[in-house]
Amino acid sequence: TISSLALDENGNLSGACTTSGAAWKMHGRVGDSPIIGAGLFLDNEVGGAAATGLGEAVIRTAGSAMVVELMRQGKSPAEACKEIVERIYNLHRNQPEFDYLQVGFIALNKHGEYGGYCLRKGFNYAVYDKEEGSRLIDAEFKI
Ligand code: ASP
Repeated sequence: TISSLALDENGNLSGACTTSGAAWKMHGRVGDSPIIGAGLFLDNEVGGAAATGLGEAVIRTAGSAMVVELMRQGKSPAEACKEIVERIYNLHRNQPEFDYLQVGFIALNKHGEYGGYCLRKGFNYAVYDKEEGSRLIDAEFKI
């Protein structure tokens, strides 16, 4: 999945999400990326979030929408991403799919604060802003 979140100079948020889907997916499978609230969610009053990884796990938690709701309640983008990854971890840790489960979220709030968090080490995300230019950040991870 490749996702993008942006905050413009007028304070408006936008986002996009695209994927080729999961490897070895069943014909007709719909992943999280095209489902608003799962792979991507934005609320121009609060912030935006996007997901990558096992779409079924993201859909099950309405992952991106939940990250935005946690930011609405006052969590930072990084804290919100972490809380949803923890929820996915707890839902799946005793399930057979856990061995190949990977999920990750990025989030950006209305103040321009951002963060990312993934289940297993290995995700990074790029950030660009006018002052500091672009940089690559390794997402924090649970395991
Ligand atoms: N989230 C995608 C899906 O489940 C897979 C990916 O990360 O590209 O369809």
